Amino acid sequence: MEVSLGHKRKQQEFSLVSISHLSPSSSSTSPSPPVVACFSADSLELRFQQDSDSSDVIKFDLQAAQVFKLGPVQSVCMSEGSEAAKEKSYSRGIVIEFNNEEQSKAFHCAFEQWKKEAFVQEARLPNGTVSTSKSKFDDKIEASSAKMYFHYYGQLLHQQNMLQDYVRTGTYFAAVIENRTDFTGRVVVDVGAGSGILSLFAAQAGAKHVYAVEASEMAEYARKLIAGNPSLGKRITVVKGKVEDVELPEKADILISEPMGTLLVNERMLESYVIARDRFLIPDGKMFPGIGRIHMAPFSDEYLFIEIANKALFWQQQSYYGVDLTPLYGSAFQGYFSQPVVDAFDPRLLVAPSISHTIDFAKIKEEELYEIEIPLKFTSLVGARVHGLACWFDVLFNGSTVQRWLTTAPGAPTTHWYQLRCVLLQPLYVMAGQEITGQLRLVAHNAQSYTIHLTMGVKMWGPGAEQGEVLQSSSCKLDLKEPYYRMSQPQAYTVAPDQQQHPLIHAQDIHIQGQDADEPDVELQ
Ligand code: SAH
Repeated sequence: MEVSLGHKRKQQEFSLVSISHLSPSSSSTSPSPPVVACFSADSLELRFQQDSDSSDVIKFDLQAAQVFKLGPVQSVCMSEGSEAAKEKSYSRGIVIEFNNEEQSKAFHCAFEQWKKEAFVQEARLPNGTVSTSKSKFDDKIEASSAKMYFHYYGQLLHQQNMLQDYVRTGTYFAAVIENRTDFTGRVVVDVGAGSGILSLFAAQAGAKHVYAVEASEMAEYARKLIAGNPSLGKRITVVKGKVEDVELPEKADILISEPMGTLLVNERMLESYVIARDRFLIPDGKMFPGIGRIHMAPFSDEYLFIEIANKALFWQQQSYYGVDLTPLYGSAFQGYFSQPVVDAFDPRLLVAPSISHTIDFAKIKEEELYEIEIPLKFTSLVGARVHGLACWFDVLFNGSTVQRWLTTAPGAPTTHWYQLRCVLLQPLYVMAGQEITGQLRLVAHNAQSYTIHLTMGVKMWGPGAEQGEVLQSSSCKLDLKEPYYRMSQPQAYTVAPDQQQHPLIHAQDIHIQGQDADEPDVELQ
């Protein structure tokens, strides 16, 4: 039985009958009986030794250790073989013999408590939040970025901004309520619950239980909102923490989440959605949404190009309070072109039918989101100066009753995501029927966003075109984390006559045409 318990629970000991190595070939020696099992708070270890002062010790990292009952008085203690365990050369497995059944039970009970404590102790950060040292999130995301990110989402005004995007919230509501059968009697996990709104929708649709996982301080407000709606709230549990870290008591039949950022992937929350899938969703469980698509098309917008180029003109002053600013002109110019532009634009600015890249949330591996390479191939419908690539996204709720798309396409009702445009430093000249090729490469960075590498080129036209030589090519590198929000600009464009686009590109067609982008079915002029 328990023989000593330190004042601050620094240590707890159990005397045992004996221990023996699981693998007989093991080279290390076991202490001969009597043996003591000792849980230590200082080193987060479970040690087996002859007495408290003995040097003949077998150690287990508490976080990596597991104990299983072999019989009423016999158990096995194993190490999961974590990195930490390997480094410190912990033992891999031993068989423990207890004095009696009661002792065995007490040991198992203590083991669970010490293991839990080990995780909490390792995870306690100075600001009091809890995460584990093994968190996938913390490994890849800079702490300062995460702090700002969760601070942002911890504020009601930002949650309100999303709730007031009625296209967004209304589509989620309709998708859930119209597909009641997917929710009724089911266990749901709301990944990044925010205010808890999607959890409440799921409860309205008859969910048996909803686990609303939210990492920011918004979790407290979600608790308040859910408590204030008791008929639904009684089936919702708010779990404060990251989906990468928290433990849930049961698996989910369906996940619901709104993990989309600008260009779908900004904020890198899709990775958390996929991790939540792997951790909590039953095999073949549903995901709401289940797929996302990035749509892309070249655009021509002289006004936008001039506006961006003009921003750097400030640095062309040769006597700014007597100071020559021109040495920084080039850097400023480059800097403005490294900002993707976020606004709602007129779809008539597109010069070719869009193409799309699909991400299947149910199948994609988390690592596949670290770098996304999309080949570009368009056929211009008009002669124009191409200023860059316009992008938007949509997601699908593939319900058993109704399929619903949430789209952020230009020309469709505007959402808080608007659209995104990458502007080339050097515009391209294209003629009707000419092919525009290139690549969009998105590389994730540790500030929860992506570096965008865009290359666009136009092939030779006329004799010799079959040689496929690229005549003009333009590249740029942009940071998705630092967009230029252009919302104060007029949203409706008067398109100059020479900029009139092909009448076959209608707003409604854009995301539909994107589906079969490989075989554009639009006639050339
Ligand atoms: N579901 C809410 C909020 C969406 S915004 C709604 O639809 O209105 C995304 C939310 O996910 C934010 O509140 C953010 O704090 C949370 N979040 C982002 N990454 C997370 C993670 N890894 N674990 C838990 N919550 C996360």
